Amino acid sequence: LMRVSHLTKYFGDTPVLNDVSLEVAAGEVKGIIGPSGAGKSTLIRCLNGLEPIDSGRIWLEDTELTAARANLDRLRSRIGFVFQDFNLFTHLSVADNIRLGLRRVRRLGRDEADHIVHRELARVGLESKWQQYPAELSGGQQQRVSIARALAMEPELMLFDEPTSALDPESVGGVLRVMRSLVAEGMTMIIVSHEMAFIEAVANDVLFMAEGRVVEEGSAEQIFQHPQQRRTRQFIDGIA
Ligand code: ATP
Ligand code: MG
Repeated sequence: LMRVSHLTKYFGDTPVLNDVSLEVAAGEVKGIIGPSGAGKSTLIRCLNGLEPIDSGRIWLEDTELTAARANLDRLRSRIGFVFQDFNLFTHLSVADNIRLGLRRVRRLGRDEADHIVHRELARVGLESKWQQYPAELSGGQQQRVSIARALAMEPELMLFDEPTSALDPESVGGVLRVMRSLVAEGMTMIIVSHEMAFIEAVANDVLFMAEGRVVEEGSAEQIFQHPQQRRTRQFIDGIA
């Protein structure tokens, strides 16, 4: 579904992504782990066309995201993105946050959009909250709204960048539960997370990144139980 080939990116003179390649098949869940500053967020932003790259290519199915004439808006509408800090519009109600893309990007009529708003809120367990404003919700609820907003666009691929790391501990479980239900539905996902037990449980395949490189890629079992690289072993031992 997505293919990344020899991606390199610099911030100034510093290489932040160094020859990163990966492939995600439809229905696959890929976990990305690694120390702070490894380039995980930068990579995931590149996959959504939010960061310019210096070299390498990215495809979504047969469409090249990195082509000079790529229609980034259209490509982005096929990819859902969930940020660490939710990125909800604070001046809009929960329903309006979800409705916005349905009306402006998918160009749906009011009734059809409302139907989807309520369907997606039900999917994340927040049907009753549609009239609230983000500030009236807990962090975990806000993150579930942001997942519902992404799902409402009916994306082919969902990207998550540390969806639970800004949450208080009681809120983490509810967000992970929603993500597990997406896994069960067969959603294709790339998940950057420090929730190692969760990644180990749901990911088909795990990338360990450090210093802008993919140090090791393998099954969750390989990366967490039998890492092949010394750098991976250090990281896994360090967090155990
Ligand atoms: P964390 O686990 O802390 O979220 P990360 O793996 O997501 O880390 P990135 O945020 O991708 O790491 O950052 C990778 C490197 O790029 C870091 O050294 C960071 O300081 C640098 N960096 C990130 N964004 C910028 C920017 N806009 N300008 C300059 N340097 C940046
Ligand atoms: Mg990050």
